[in-house]
Amino acid sequence: MIVSMQETATDQQIQQVIEHLVRMGFAVHRTTGERQTVLAAVGARIDFDTRNLEVLSGVEHVHRISAPYKLAARSFRPQGSVIEVGNGIKIGGEEVVVIAGPCSVESRDQLFIVAEQVAKAGARGLRGGAFKPRSSPYSFQGLGLEALKLLREAGDRFKLLVVSEVMEISQIEVMLPYVDIFQVGARNMQNFNLLRELGKIRKTVLLKRGIAATLEELLLSAEYIMAGGNYNVVLCERGIRTFETYTRNTLDISAVPIIHKLSHLPISIDPSHGTGLRDKVAPMARAALAAGTDALLIEVHHDPDKALSDGAQSLYPEQFSKLMDELRMIAPAVGRKIA
Ligand code: PEP
Ligand code: MN
Repeated sequence: MIVSMQETATDQQIQQVIEHLVRMGFAVHRTTGERQTVLAAVGARIDFDTRNLEVLSGVEHVHRISAPYKLAARSFRPQGSVIEVGNGIKIGGEEVVVIAGPCSVESRDQLFIVAEQVAKAGARGLRGGAFKPRSSPYSFQGLGLEALKLLREAGDRFKLLVVSEVMEISQIEVMLPYVDIFQVGARNMQNFNLLRELGKIRKTVLLKRGIAATLEELLLSAEYIMAGGNYNVVLCERGIRTFETYTRNTLDISAVPIIHKLSHLPISIDPSHGTGLRDKVAPMARAALAAGTDALLIEVHHDPDKALSDGAQSLYPEQFSKLMDELRMIAPAVGRKIA
């Protein structure tokens, strides 16, 4: 940590800051230039709140040089993490894993029609919400356990991994026999009790970025899961809320290279929630692949006009199949492969 003192800082103020740092367990190196004193504080404390220093008299600026997370940091596994998610499929390796399916599981017919089509097009995973976090309490809330059973059956039939969202702790046990990947939705990225419980299992957790979360906060949420011993975490950028109203969210594709630099964890992109509009999904999926994403999460529905949630952003199966063909052409250009 670097603490720059104000030009007007007195010797007594500098001394107070040094004493404060030493009390917190830091070794302090002092450099006094012509105009300003700069303190370099070196120590192992990761939970230090830099604002505690910023409020001390005479302090101009505090700059943290080490990340506030440890297990999620790239330095923990410089070679990167390749996560085995089931059926021999790995996220974070050469293959870019595509997970597709409806926003919500609505019926057996709907799920099986969509699952068959996405499997045929080359998807590796089947997504589908059983427990739905809806902005309105009057909207469809999901079929619950019935949906989980249908997902497992369809996943087994079409050899697809099953991905579904967990909203609360009590659902973990219910979901364990049915899902391969637990999705934590944007709204629950900072549900720390839920994250801690997911740290106790060993199945993969797909952790979505909150609508107003920084990438550092996303990595700190991943740290909660990893601190419990579950290192099988895949991050997901699904769009953040900005002042732009044309799209549902603003998809931050730059999250991909940033996360790859900061962390060893794989990152996925969800262009469906990231744009909210069907015709924007394929261009953003192609861009995400070119940017280096490790996985894609895409909503597909055979009859999106009648979908019970997120119809406007769901691709028709034919559109999804065409997108997969395009992704197969782009992948080799960036050293990747698509099933
Ligand atoms: C979803 O995947 O259907 C979903 C609700 O996602 P998010 O949490 O990103 O809104
Ligand atoms: Mn959705």
